[in-house]
Amino acid sequence: MNALDLIKEQVRNLEPYSLRDYEYDIKLNQNENPFGFPPELAKKAWERMRTMDLARYPDFHLTQITRRLANHVRMEREGLLVGNGSNELIQVTLMTLLSSGDRFLLPVPTFALYRPIGVILGAEPIRVDLNREDFSLPTDRVLAAAREKSPKVIVLCSPNNPTGVPYPEADVRRIIEESGALVILDEAYYQFSDQDFRPLLDDYDNVVIMRTFSKAMALAGARVGYLMGRPPLVEQIAKAKLPYGLNVMSEAIASVALDNYDLLEGHVQELRAFRDQLYQELCRIPGVHPYPSQSNFILMRFDWPQDEVFEHVLADGIIIRDVSKAPMLEGHLRVSVGTRQENQAFLRSLRTLAERKGAR
Ligand code: PMP
Repeated sequence: MNALDLIKEQVRNLEPYSLRDYEYDIKLNQNENPFGFPPELAKKAWERMRTMDLARYPDFHLTQITRRLANHVRMEREGLLVGNGSNELIQVTLMTLLSSGDRFLLPVPTFALYRPIGVILGAEPIRVDLNREDFSLPTDRVLAAAREKSPKVIVLCSPNNPTGVPYPEADVRRIIEESGALVILDEAYYQFSDQDFRPLLDDYDNVVIMRTFSKAMALAGARVGYLMGRPPLVEQIAKAKLPYGLNVMSEAIASVALDNYDLLEGHVQELRAFRDQLYQELCRIPGVHPYPSQSNFILMRFDWPQDEVFEHVLADGIIIRDVSKAPMLEGHLRVSVGTRQENQAFLRSLRTLAERKGAR
């Protein structure tokens, strides 16, 4: 008997989801917050941790953080579920919805985790390509595919990763109203845009919103995410979640972040300004073609092979993300918005490459 023969076929056929290790000084590849978690807030969190009894299980209902979140997003606690990063909540939500033979629809390219989770559950992904010229949402094509294939779930990331494009609320509403599917709205980057889909929950019961503390809140390492939905739906999703998925330390750190949101919000505003400056500067470099972004990263294509750009920038100590294997993104790279100095270092590196190419 070969143990590998026992592995589900869907799993064997998947490519592993992993990141290669590189040496670098400046990290602009995972859309993290370049300012870091403010030291004064980390100190407050450590103070709370000092008095914790780590021998005890966390509070089953995560009351501390859920109460603060309810206040932060202005909704009832029963409509919230907090988890170990939004990755966990994405997995749990798909687990409660998709079985073998079901279908789920993804406008692509998008965040790479949804597809493999659905596939492992035995469901069939329905791919709808975004509009090629600007990666906008092809709402009519999404609805046509939904009519034809009857997916149980449609996932809309807005602003989308890795394109940075937000989807218009009117289109999102049409898909929620007309598709007959449960629509997952992934708002991992909403603080960097002018959108907030939370009010849609007042109008529809077939919506779940995913959010994370990993980006604007500067806590990717603490692994905290939450979902919002109508309480009866959230109650069902909660059944599939492992108890105690969020550890007591992460709960305390995220609670401190919410109590001091003003400070973090200031950094978000700065990053939005840096993003717009970075985009303008990238537009001025011959051979570099950035796409407008409402997120904390920028997608780019080039007049040169993307691996040359990637290697050149890496040789200057800067790691960015090669997204060229994703559907429709041949030749594209993605850069996270860094601090002012980090963005300048990245721009300098690209300008040197452009000059060298231009001189030939
Ligand atoms: N959704 C999107 C669209 C993302 O880009 C990411 C992280 N890259 C996540 C969810 C996962 O976030 P978390 O760190 O909370 O698991």
